[in-house]
Amino acid sequence: MTDESSISSSQVTKPFVSLKWETLFVISVVFSLAVSVVSYVLYTEGSRFFETQLAESIRNNSTALLAQNRRNLVSIGTSISFNSRGADTVRSDKVLVDYLNQNWELMEIEWGLESISIYDVASQSSELWGEKQSFDPKTRLQSSTHKGPFTDVICTDYCSIYAIVPMFYMSGEKKYLILGTGLVDFVMNFASNNNMKAVLLRPIGMGGTSADDRVWDYAIAGMTERMAYLPIVHQLADQSDFNVVQEVGETMLTPDKQYYYLYAMPLQDQMQQTDYLLLANNITDKKQRINDTLLGAGLIAALGLVSAILLVFFVLNDPMKRIQRQANLLPLLAKKRFKGVRERTIQDRKPHYLRNELDVLEDTAIELSSELELLHREIEQRTGELENMALYDVLTGLANRRMFVEQLNILIKNSQEHLERFAVVFIDLDNFKRINDTLGHDVGDELLIEVSRRLRSSVRDTDVVARLGGDEFTLLLTQLKSIDYAKTALDKVLDGFQKPVLLNNIEYKITPSIGAAIGPDNGMDSDDLMRCADMAMYKSKRNGKNCYYFFTDEMNETLQKEIRLEGELLEAVNSKEFRLFYQPIVDLNTGKVVALEGLLRWLHPEKGLLEPWQFIDMLENNGQIVALGSQIIELACLGKIYLNNLGLEKLLISLNVSAKQFNDPLFLDKFQNVLNAHGIHPTSFKIEITEQTLMTDIEKQAKQLDILRKMGFRIAIDDFGTGYSSLSYLKELPLHILKIDRSFIKDIPKQKNDMEIVSAVTAMAKKLNLRVIAEGIETSEHEAFLKGIDCDFGQGYLYSKPKPLEELIVYLRENV
Ligand code: C2E
Ligand code: MG
Ligand code: MG
Repeated sequence: MTDESSISSSQVTKPFVSLKWETLFVISVVFSLAVSVVSYVLYTEGSRFFETQLAESIRNNSTALLAQNRRNLVSIGTSISFNSRGADTVRSDKVLVDYLNQNWELMEIEWGLESISIYDVASQSSELWGEKQSFDPKTRLQSSTHKGPFTDVICTDYCSIYAIVPMFYMSGEKKYLILGTGLVDFVMNFASNNNMKAVLLRPIGMGGTSADDRVWDYAIAGMTERMAYLPIVHQLADQSDFNVVQEVGETMLTPDKQYYYLYAMPLQDQMQQTDYLLLANNITDKKQRINDTLLGAGLIAALGLVSAILLVFFVLNDPMKRIQRQANLLPLLAKKRFKGVRERTIQDRKPHYLRNELDVLEDTAIELSSELELLHREIEQRTGELENMALYDVLTGLANRRMFVEQLNILIKNSQEHLERFAVVFIDLDNFKRINDTLGHDVGDELLIEVSRRLRSSVRDTDVVARLGGDEFTLLLTQLKSIDYAKTALDKVLDGFQKPVLLNNIEYKITPSIGAAIGPDNGMDSDDLMRCADMAMYKSKRNGKNCYYFFTDEMNETLQKEIRLEGELLEAVNSKEFRLFYQPIVDLNTGKVVALEGLLRWLHPEKGLLEPWQFIDMLENNGQIVALGSQIIELACLGKIYLNNLGLEKLLISLNVSAKQFNDPLFLDKFQNVLNAHGIHPTSFKIEITEQTLMTDIEKQAKQLDILRKMGFRIAIDDFGTGYSSLSYLKELPLHILKIDRSFIKDIPKQKNDMEIVSAVTAMAKKLNLRVIAEGIETSEHEAFLKGIDCDFGQGYLYSKPKPLEELIVYLRENV
């Protein structure tokens, strides 16, 4: 499985959750978390804040009240001292004493005083009103440096606050007015006024209390509502730390769910071991109020949360729906439902006053669907074209090689099942290349189209006609009852070519070379059958063209031989196994030899002497003729020197030059170099170039010929009449001689047509200032006719066959 498919399959198996619900879930979770955190912080911080506030106010109130009490006492003392003595400090304290005697009871009631005493520092004696004072003036005041009044709390059996007001007399006496008030009363008052339980704590040892009355390391010296609250005080004390209680106070919870704020207020200043007033304030109600307030805030937050989620839901609902719609529609693009996507998107659209990303997304989806539709159509069209191109020939519309091979394979399979025969036919147009080169590719294409039409109409509809490329056509002749059926079909094909083809308003005779292989007789493999048909076609080409051959096993052998020969040919060029034979060219008027045509022979080490038809095409095809060309010129030079030495220097040597050689850019240089090496001048040579060679790129060839002529070579056009050249175009070329092909001579005098052609060509050539050589003169009748039409020269077996130069010497001595 590929990566892609595994991804897509895993995507399909995953459960689908709409983005809408996902978003809502995430927002709800985030909001809830935020609200929880904020609520928690608010609650804890809020309750701590409120508690601290409460504690602080209790502490401050208590401390302030005590301070107030002290101040009150001091101001009472000061006012008593002042009222009784006035500004006259000279007066003794008699007035004060009288005053106190008169008013003590009133003071006791009015101000809640316990005692008042006057202490004389000098006599260390005191005068007392009210209860005995626990404040010891001797120890505390004898060396006192206090200049103004001050207070002190003294706890012995019980605690009292004392205000000490110094009084100075003119006489130098120094006395103190000492006012005392019981602390317990004050505390109890203070406590009941502030709804507190108050407990007076004293360091153990300073008051005789039982062990039950101990909390922390202190003894309970007194408390309000003792019976009811003693257990509670014990509970609270057991759970709390005195240091905290003493410093900032502590909030405690009793088992009966009552909150108490415990605070131990020190009564004496700057003393280590002091008495404390433990205040237990029941703050349950207040705490409840705080909780209620915070709960209210939490409820409001929760309400806000739900509203926010609902708001988000309503705000996101429409965009989410649109996204969902697009999410449903876009996959349809992959299913090529372009129009549906476009129409649904447009149809479901609601008018919006403002554009947002979703509008852009929808616009893009509409645009995308149009673009994709166009693209898809184009791809389909192109795919169709490509499929056609892949199976059909673009130019002719016939099946191409691929289609042909496919059909052939089907045929092979069917023939095995139904035991049917079929023919694979290869058709190659003769000389197509020349038409293509001379008339241009457009005309060549026209010809191929016409040929395809003719082939199609020559066979049955069930037969296959294909073009493999270039001028190679193939046929599949199906359901053959016998080989004769195939022969009939091929005769019809040949007939189809009888009518000339009109190209550029000129009629051209086109001929095919046809080869056929029969399946399954010649093979059951498409490659084998095609190779067999190709071999048969090759044979047609070799055997005169415009005909057909059926494959035979000998052809295979021939082909094998040719392959072998090709290898040997390569060797032969390297080891110089080639010779030049010479054939005389005779002046028909005088009967004298004027030139010798050098004709190539291969002295094969096993097969003996081989003639050009056996190897020259091969040399041309594999390009070895170019390398061999230099060897031939070398041989010709040696021949020329040999003749010169025999005194036959006036004989010209005629050399055949193939198209490949002639078009070789180094040809002229090579030729000139060899001639120079032997000291021979080009005027001793004639060059024969075939009509076919000159037909390709006539302007270029004319230039090349011109150079050769200027160098001194004589130039002949060889095998004239076999190509398509007209006499008129010859006048454009710098030629000296025209050689009429042997095929026009051989049937003289039987073929009157040929005789007319030969005499017309001769007459015309003369008009163009060309000399004429007739090839293939074998009989005296040939000679007589040619002499009769005033042909200049003749060449043929009548005079001599091509022979090694040495064997010609006797003949030459007699006929030169
Ligand atoms: P070609 O140049 O037209 O040469 C004339 C051919 O006609 C020679 O065949 C010659 O033997 C043959 N011939 C001459 N008179 C008669 C006759 O009376 N009766 C018959 N039946 N045949 C006659 P060959 O030597 O077999 O050469 C065939 C072709 O090979 C030549 O035709 C030429 O095109 C090519 N060829 C020969 N030598 C060379 C060469 O050195 N270079 C190149 N490029 N081509 C060569
Ligand atoms: Mg020749
Ligand atoms: Mg010839």
